[in-house]
Amino acid sequence: MARRLSQLADLPVSVLNGVGAKSAADLAAIDVLTVLDLLTHYPRRHVDRSREARIADLREGDDGLVLAEIKRVATRRARNHKILVEVDVSDESGFLRCTFFNQSWRAKQLSEGANAAFFGKVTTFRGKRQMANPLVDLIGNKTGKIVPIYPQSADLSTWEIGRWVEEALQRAGDFADPLPQPVRDELDVVDRTWAFRQIHQPDSMGAVGAARKRLAFDELFRLQVALVMRKRAVEREAKGIQHNVDGELAQRFRQRLPFPLTGAQRRAIDQIESDLAGVHPMHRLLQGDVGAGKTVVAVSALLVSVQGGHQGALMAPTEVLAEQHFLGVRSLLADLTVPDETGSLFEERPVRVDLLTNRTTAKERTRLLAGLDDGSVDILIGTHALLTEGVAFKDLGVVVIDEQHRFGVEQRAALRGKGNDPDVLVMTATPIPRTAAMTVYGDLDVTVLDELPPGRTPIRTVWARGPLEEAEAWARVKAEVAAGRQAYVVCPLVDESERVQARSATDEFERLRAEVFPDLRLGLLHGQMRPADKESAMAAFRRAELDVLVATTVIEVGVDVPNATVMVIEDADRFGIAQLHQLRGRVGRGAAESWCYLLGGDPESERLAAVERSTDGFALAEVDLEIRGEGTVLGTKQKGVSDLKLASLRRDRDLIEQARSIAFRMVDADPLLDDNPVLADEVRALLDDDEAAFLFKS
Ligand code: ADP
Ligand code: MG
Repeated sequence: MARRLSQLADLPVSVLNGVGAKSAADLAAIDVLTVLDLLTHYPRRHVDRSREARIADLREGDDGLVLAEIKRVATRRARNHKILVEVDVSDESGFLRCTFFNQSWRAKQLSEGANAAFFGKVTTFRGKRQMANPLVDLIGNKTGKIVPIYPQSADLSTWEIGRWVEEALQRAGDFADPLPQPVRDELDVVDRTWAFRQIHQPDSMGAVGAARKRLAFDELFRLQVALVMRKRAVEREAKGIQHNVDGELAQRFRQRLPFPLTGAQRRAIDQIESDLAGVHPMHRLLQGDVGAGKTVVAVSALLVSVQGGHQGALMAPTEVLAEQHFLGVRSLLADLTVPDETGSLFEERPVRVDLLTNRTTAKERTRLLAGLDDGSVDILIGTHALLTEGVAFKDLGVVVIDEQHRFGVEQRAALRGKGNDPDVLVMTATPIPRTAAMTVYGDLDVTVLDELPPGRTPIRTVWARGPLEEAEAWARVKAEVAAGRQAYVVCPLVDESERVQARSATDEFERLRAEVFPDLRLGLLHGQMRPADKESAMAAFRRAELDVLVATTVIEVGVDVPNATVMVIEDADRFGIAQLHQLRGRVGRGAAESWCYLLGGDPESERLAAVERSTDGFALAEVDLEIRGEGTVLGTKQKGVSDLKLASLRRDRDLIEQARSIAFRMVDADPLLDDNPVLADEVRALLDDDEAAFLFKS
């Protein structure tokens, strides 16, 4: 019978003949515990010996691959005191010198008499061919045409691993395939047995590609099936609140806004309201670039909850963000009232919004929890403090989670658990590419705010690489202030600690006031200031009583002063792309032309170059993904995403789309995968017990 992956996952590697106790321990050290782990310990690359050159034929400037015997290994110190390992190698045609800088371990790795593949750029020195820091693969005396190179460790060589893989493949026989033949044909992918064999022991480089495609597809596909099943299970099981979307409160709020909604905002609000009115709880992701106006959409959803007599919650990942939201939402709701159930009939009271963070005092917390319990707190804004025990809502109807990528799926579930199937809106201020969103938020419906409010002028971004351009930045600040505008200066990010931040911002504030802007009115804003002081600094800046606000990243979000037209970000390369983009979003909010200056940084910085080049958050998100890789960007601990071994959210966009559409088709035809036990097995392996029980419950 064909093998299931779960069977291979039940076999420890020690069942293989070649693997004794010592090898098993060495394998465990690289997280290979089972036969399945071994078979998915894929080659890091393949050396294509058909591209192998003779040393004599290498020409200067070539990227050459040679297989050669190591003749001599010497270690010495170069003039700059760095360790230099020189390795002379030869094949029957000639000699080549390979040099390694600061890699003293090479002397141990490369022993005289061994055979290895060397891949690198060929240079000549005094008429002799050389390679500096080439890639080296100890391939032993492998004879295959294409040699797989496994990720190795100090204790394990690639050919030991290869030998065990070979035994595992032989003993495993045929693999059970969760994709029926017609689907394989449609996708143009090979069968699984062939794929496993060819990725480890390929007949050609083309076969490697085909095998990789199939196995990468499988990784993405089971993840999509799990996500689609979660989505469908939520839709099938839960009986959510059917909110009253025709109430007055949300309408009054929208009418009182000082601006008309954008088309994108109207579409988002409509979509959300139709979710809210429905029987199933909403599970929606709202993506939108900085300044697209997500807050208004979120508040409108919270008010739908409030107008029906329910409560709303808004959770943000940091205290600063939560505080900013609190101030913003409170000012948006000023003058809005709801019927007061404790007073006489027809009496109205203001909508009550409260803030809960770890900084909330015990006394305030007690007061607030009482209000949550009796329903007089309408909207609670806060950090993960909202998730703590003791925070109990009377009747939580709508939950909004900002910057979802900093929270895990469990935290989302925990907040949802504070109510009785409340509707959930998740927002990302950091756009992520569509296909990445499909993978990370694949159980959510997605709305994109793809339109900025009118009247915004594009921001001109200047990367000030040297002192001349820096002087231009300060001159621009002065000129704009002279024209009645205002500016922000964002201080260097010295350290994650708020205390250190605060000190450096204070120092920089003093310096700027004394040396750069003696004639301007400067204000200071950082996270360690008392809330009242923060508010008064912000208020003064808003009223244009300050020309320049010197701040830490507390201004990253929520701050909104259309008269501010210049932003100077010091030591810009300390910040990530998303953060720079967020910061820059504080200017360009009015009709006047705006500037953003990025000071300093490595002249090669790809990040600063990208931010200088583009103001499109989605485009920047792509670059970010490219530079930093998926794990860091998505910051997700979601199982499955971190298990992607071959598939890449960057490179495999088409595969992601295909995997998702096939997942929908298969799950909708067979919701509990009764007809495809092989697939059901693989999906279960991604889930913990509770979730498996939930997804597979009929
Ligand atoms: P983000 O999507 O980055 O959270 P915000 O919700 O903070 O954006 O909105 C950015 C700014 O745009 C705020 O000043 C907000 O008042 C304003 N704004 C939102 N919607 C509109 C609109 N339709 N027309 C004009 N300004 C708007
Ligand atoms: Mg926002």
